[in-house]
Amino acid sequence: MNINKIQSKSIINKSNIPFSDLCINPYVGCEHGCLYCYASYMTTFSNHNYERWGSFVDIKENAPDLLKHYLTKHNLNQHIVIGSVTDAYQPIEEDTKITRQILEILLKDKTQLSLLNNSFKLSIITKNKLILRDLDLLKQFNNLAIFVSITTCDEKISKIIEPFASTPNERINILSTLKQNNIKCGVLISPYLPYITDYNILFKCLENKIDFIHSEKINLKGNIKYFVLDMYKNYFNINNILSTINDNNYWINVKTQFNNLCEQYKIPSI
Ligand code: SF4
Repeated sequence: MNINKIQSKSIINKSNIPFSDLCINPYVGCEHGCLYCYASYMTTFSNHNYERWGSFVDIKENAPDLLKHYLTKHNLNQHIVIGSVTDAYQPIEEDTKITRQILEILLKDKTQLSLLNNSFKLSIITKNKLILRDLDLLKQFNNLAIFVSITTCDEKISKIIEPFASTPNERINILSTLKQNNIKCGVLISPYLPYITDYNILFKCLENKIDFIHSEKINLKGNIKYFVLDMYKNYFNINNILSTINDNNYWINVKTQFNNLCEQYKIPSI
């Protein structure tokens, strides 16, 4: 693993996650190395062109200072998501505690008023049980939602396609612990992978464990297309995946199944 400390130019940026306005990414790159990761396009926007996604992490060492500086000029009155193109709780966070510092700064900030009057929302997306280390801080936010990202409940398949993330069972345990601590939590099925994701099994595993759910279809923009096609060909022996992904009727059926299951299990979709 190629690990570097960097000085970033900014820490709060416009978010590309549908339900949020701004994003904070404490790292560039992600040790979890998911084979379908849409954030792998970040290799092109960093100094890691031609490096394999999952083989490098840049630690934004100055992230806490950048955030403190940002908060001297802005009020927090928007929806911020932590971890839109990285996992803020990937293993290196255990040592660096950058994400923990970010949460501490958000809690202590003089714009605390906006934290209290509900105009500020915070979401965190993760696939790592390390998030539970910060339960003491998470419990102090008023308007917080944790999205645990799950694509499959199959432990063997997960080991292949999300090799260094917490296992699906561990992620389901994160949800139970968050619930026990009265922290709003849901699941992000991002992405739904044809022939791999099974909504029926997922919803059954998640029954009574979550407050909301969100699902997105696989993203094949840019180079991601080649990574995803390789994943299907090399590990699942599926060669015709592109025609499935390009079939509108297939996605209409997927959406209908998702909506029906949300209704059946009484889980709101966002
Ligand atoms: S955990 Fe998220 S950001 Fe990290 S590799 Fe997997 S999908 Fe990408």
